[in-house]
Amino acid sequence: MELRILGSFGGDSPSCRMTSFLIGGTVAVDAGAITRALTIEEQRAIRHVVITHTHMDHTSSLPFLIENIFGSATEPVSIYCTRSVLGAVRRHLFNNDTWPDFSRIPNHLYPSVRFEVIEPGVPFVIEGVPGGNLEVTAIMVNHIVPTCGLLLRQGPSSVIFTSDTGPTEHIWEVANATEDLAAVITECSFPNRLQAVADVSLHLTPQTLATELAKLTRDCAVYLYHFKPPYVDDLRRELAATDLPHPVEELVQDRTYSF
Ligand SMILES: [Zn+2]
Ligand SMILES: [Zn+2]
Repeated sequence: MELRILGSFGGDSPSCRMTSFLIGGTVAVDAGAITRALTIEEQRAIRHVVITHTHMDHTSSLPFLIENIFGSATEPVSIYCTRSVLGAVRRHLFNNDTWPDFSRIPNHLYPSVRFEVIEPGVPFVIEGVPGGNLEVTAIMVNHIVPTCGLLLRQGPSSVIFTSDTGPTEHIWEVANATEDLAAVITECSFPNRLQAVADVSLHLTPQTLATELAKLTRDCAVYLYHFKPPYVDDLRRELAATDLPHPVEELVQDRTYSF
């Protein structure tokens, strides 16, 4: 699996783009900064977007992506999300108020986007992805709005992206049961001194990350994303000083990983 990191942060600044990944050049996972990271030509290659939850650091470039690629393909772009996320995406992003409803543009028979509802725990396959069919399974996690992590499988290996989450259980059970698991991408958002903020917003700090990683019994690479831009230096320092149950690496923006 070829995974390009378009944005790896939980907020926006000139050096920190918001969460979005690209698989095989054609499938986007979250849409925090797609249009800031890719050329128009590269944006036109995207045919599928999987959205984990409605927060703006995961969705804000979606309206601009759809506008940029408007008219460049005969088939609509597919947007995959759970039913509750779909309701909010339609209500807040494509509502003919903050942005046009591209599921009815140019008209409802030939829309620019097509929404696909995904069911947690039920794998679905995206065909025609360079590198082979991509199997995606949504797994609900514990965030302040309905949020799913993703089990992504292509060819010989799987990757789990937890998306944003506080302490949770099921996705770690899935990780432990996934024999071809190559990597887990999970979050760390705030330094330990902001534990109360992390707790109410359902995010992790280095100390709660340590508790979460103790649930992972499988030997696989662990990458961290979603540092909040004001605390990047604090988090790097704290993580280096924390005795974590698994070695971790920061997920590097603009890098392409092969799994
Ligand atoms: Zn986020
Ligand atoms: Zn979030």
